[in-house]
Amino acid sequence: RKRIVSGVQPTGSIHLGNYLGAIKNWIRLQDTFETFFFIVDLHAITLQYDAQQLLRSTRDTAAIYLACGVDPSKASVFVQSHVRAHVELMWLLSSATPIGWLNRMIQFKEKSRKAGDENVGVALLTYPVLMAADILLYQSDLVPVGEDQKQHLELTRELAERVNYLYGGRKWKKLGGRGGAIFKVPEPLIPPAGARIMSLTDGLSKMSKSAPSDQSRINLLDSKDVIANKIKRCKTDAFPGLEFDNTERPECNNLLSIYQLVTGKTKQEVTEECGDMNWGTFKIVLTDALVDHLHPIQVRYEQIVSDSSYLDEVLAEGARKAADIADVTVNNVYQAMGFLRR
Ligand code: ATP
Ligand code: MG
Repeated sequence: RKRIVSGVQPTGSIHLGNYLGAIKNWIRLQDTFETFFFIVDLHAITLQYDAQQLLRSTRDTAAIYLACGVDPSKASVFVQSHVRAHVELMWLLSSATPIGWLNRMIQFKEKSRKAGDENVGVALLTYPVLMAADILLYQSDLVPVGEDQKQHLELTRELAERVNYLYGGRKWKKLGGRGGAIFKVPEPLIPPAGARIMSLTDGLSKMSKSAPSDQSRINLLDSKDVIANKIKRCKTDAFPGLEFDNTERPECNNLLSIYQLVTGKTKQEVTEECGDMNWGTFKIVLTDALVDHLHPIQVRYEQIVSDSSYLDEVLAEGARKAADIADVTVNNVYQAMGFLRR
């Protein structure tokens, strides 16, 4: 079976973008593939953060995975920092990563510009190396990524090839290894729709946990009233009717896409149903669809967090399964790079 890894950072509340762009697709994937879904807590400290909130978000995120339908009997669900090999491999990989590759990363440029120089830690720059470690440790075949992570995945692929070239093959064999490629070079798996859910307050920037305004996103655990209020106040336009794919109407395209994804309807069905609606009518329809879709997830979430030992067991078992594979990879890398083995 082909192997898939993916994760979300516990940097705040999980929102509709994370759900429609990532988690919802995992549910389908776990039936067909060998899957590893983790909470990438080590990535969550690359910008200033609150330790209490990290702790809370890590548990919440794990509970949300399960509430959304990630099934621990099919997928390995774990917390990144529980598997030590992630940090170890990151250091080894960082020695083979040209700094120019990292300087080019759009997310680094954007996030560092917003945070201001004094607040930008080295970890924000080296973030993609840790992400490469996350993926390469499991010899992943496929990585489901939203549009925003495509560039990081490309760097992962280049890094895998570079390490294979620098240390793999015959050189590794001479060091007593099995020779050949050290890493499998992973392919991106971009979901057809919902690859990029945009902010409610600006149809040109993506919905994001770290955006300062909570009005810009629908969180998975938002109550009915909060959802209604956010949709009521979200940005719209003054064009007549509603339509997909008009570049002058990014908000309209985004809200119709969200409606399509949570109802499971086709684009054509949504166009027929909503094409002649005005914003007031559509906002009510969209709010109801969102509430209906999220309610069962919220009920399951409450059940899961009410039994903390269950969650702990799931995470411990997930980390054990992950470490079994990750340790083999990192030990191979140590060997290929000439480290004396314990
Ligand atoms: P942050 O602002 O802290 O970076 P984020 O909202 O971008 O948070 P991540 O934890 O970086 O969330 O990403 C988790 C997963 O969710 C990734 O697979 C990413 O591609 C996906 N994702 C994030 N935002 C969106 C979005 N707006 N639309 C679709 N997918 C998204
Ligand atoms: Mg992000």
